[in-house]
Amino acid sequence: MLSRYLSALSLYCLLAIIGLSAVASPIIHLGVLDWRDESKATTSRWAATLAAIEQQQPSKKIVLHQLSLEGIAAALAEERLDYLITNPGHYVQLSQTYPLAPLATLSNPFFDLPQQAIGSVVLVPATRIEINRWEDLRSLTLGAVTQDAFGGFQLIWDELEQRGLNPERASVQLKLTGFPMVQLFDSLAKGEVDAIVVRSCLAEVLAAEGRINLADYRVVGEQKHPNYPCLTSSQLYPDWPFLSTGKQTAAEVSQVLQALLQPVGNQPAQWLAPLSYQPVYALFERLRLGPFASFPHNPLLTAVYQYRYPLLLVFGLLLLIFTHHIRVGYLVGKRSQELQQAMQESQQKQKELAHLSRFAVMGELAAGLAHELNQPLTAILNYAQGSQRLLQQINGENNPQKEPLIAAAQKIVAQGERAAEIIRNLRAFMRKGNSDQQQLDPKQLLQEVRLLMDASLQAQKVALNVYLPEKLPLIRANRVEFLQILINLVSNALDAMQHQTAGRIDIFVEQDRQRNLLVFELIDKGEGLSTEVEQRIFEPFFTTRPEGMGLGLSLSRTLAIAQGASLNLVPHSAGGACACLEWPLANE
Ligand code: ADP
Repeated sequence: MLSRYLSALSLYCLLAIIGLSAVASPIIHLGVLDWRDESKATTSRWAATLAAIEQQQPSKKIVLHQLSLEGIAAALAEERLDYLITNPGHYVQLSQTYPLAPLATLSNPFFDLPQQAIGSVVLVPATRIEINRWEDLRSLTLGAVTQDAFGGFQLIWDELEQRGLNPERASVQLKLTGFPMVQLFDSLAKGEVDAIVVRSCLAEVLAAEGRINLADYRVVGEQKHPNYPCLTSSQLYPDWPFLSTGKQTAAEVSQVLQALLQPVGNQPAQWLAPLSYQPVYALFERLRLGPFASFPHNPLLTAVYQYRYPLLLVFGLLLLIFTHHIRVGYLVGKRSQELQQAMQESQQKQKELAHLSRFAVMGELAAGLAHELNQPLTAILNYAQGSQRLLQQINGENNPQKEPLIAAAQKIVAQGERAAEIIRNLRAFMRKGNSDQQQLDPKQLLQEVRLLMDASLQAQKVALNVYLPEKLPLIRANRVEFLQILINLVSNALDAMQHQTAGRIDIFVEQDRQRNLLVFELIDKGEGLSTEVEQRIFEPFFTTRPEGMGLGLSLSRTLAIAQGASLNLVPHSAGGACACLEWPLANE
């Protein structure tokens, strides 16, 4: 029982000590916002307030702390202040974090309406007559002390925003000079800025002090407020609040409040009962400042702007993936097309090879036929020659049928010899492994060509004209290959003229002494060569004919080059084509 009584007593004593120490704190810390750090000016400004509190509480000492915005924030965070005097905007901003209670509102001796005490004005030199309305500020430079100044920039920011001239979006260029505000007038005079934002009444005070001449300035977006004595471009807001930080007891705060509202001597009280700061809250809401900063007008856009770098990275990555995807798709498409083309080409080659092998078989057949026909042909020749001899020996001059029979037998012999010659040539042409080069007479070679091509020439009624120089040198060539080349050129010329009823092929032979060559120019009057065909005729398997193989020219050129010769085919000026074969002469 006693122990319980003792512990209750000790708890009571402890509480009493704590309570006493709180109540008995002899110093009151009063913070004051001071941009300028002009200690004298500030102290005299708040002298009446300090005197009133000291008079009310003589046992206490009041310490005035002149602090910047940051200084106040730090002092509040460390709970160093009992009371605070600051501008309404700053108060609203701080009210988000600290339990500040407005005890009173500054009573301004110049204005009748303290709720209409703070405003801002935009001034331009009187000479800039082109700047009148808010819109005229677009793209101009606006001078201000800082973006945090309530009775300066923030009020004008609101006016600009309401007219779609957001300074942040650079419709209006901002130039911030810092405090003191007076230096803005110098900047304007020097032309560093086009217009300036200053708190209302500053210009009037400076004019009263003789530091500026009001007639030198014009107001932009002027707003008239009844009973307000200064130039203004903005709405008006309540004057500065006197705030309790919640550190002192209710009794102490009541005493300070009484002191604030009481006249000191014959001076009226410097403070009034607190006014509503709702208009300032509404302004901050419009500007999304202070407590409203975390509720942006457009949360999506704000978030996009806030996370722009990560978003850009993600977007870049997506773009890369997308580009890669498109590229892969394109490559796959291209490869499949190439593959399809390769397959088509391979099918074409297969067809051509089948064609080629049929030709090879036919070649073998032709060789066999030539061999087999040789004997019956020799026999026919022998019988024809025998018949011819026998006919000549028959005595019967008066027989009128004897002479025509002899002539017929002679013709059979001549045609038979011709057939035998053709077959000999054919067999020589087809003989394998005949790659030896010899000295050959071009005239004789051309006769052989005529003989081999005679049937085709006659069938198409095409004349083959050969023009030779008087003196014709020998050439060095493989006989069969040379013939193969010329026969190929003549049959190509015939093919080119197949739709004509009659025609001619001219072969001009000339010696080029300088280059030691014999030049054969074979000119036809056929369909000629288009540019596209001309570029491709020497490609293996290139052909424009349904029954063609496309090997003749490429093979001919290969054979010619192997023997030091050259072969070209060009369109001829008179229509048709001209094949030019340049062949090396035999060394004499
Ligand atoms: P092919 O005669 O089997 O088609 P070639 O290699 O001999 O093969 O000829 C290739 C192509 O060149 C021919 O299909 C034809 O289009 C063209 N050509 C060759 N000679 C002539 C010519 N004298 N006049 C017009 N075109 C020609």
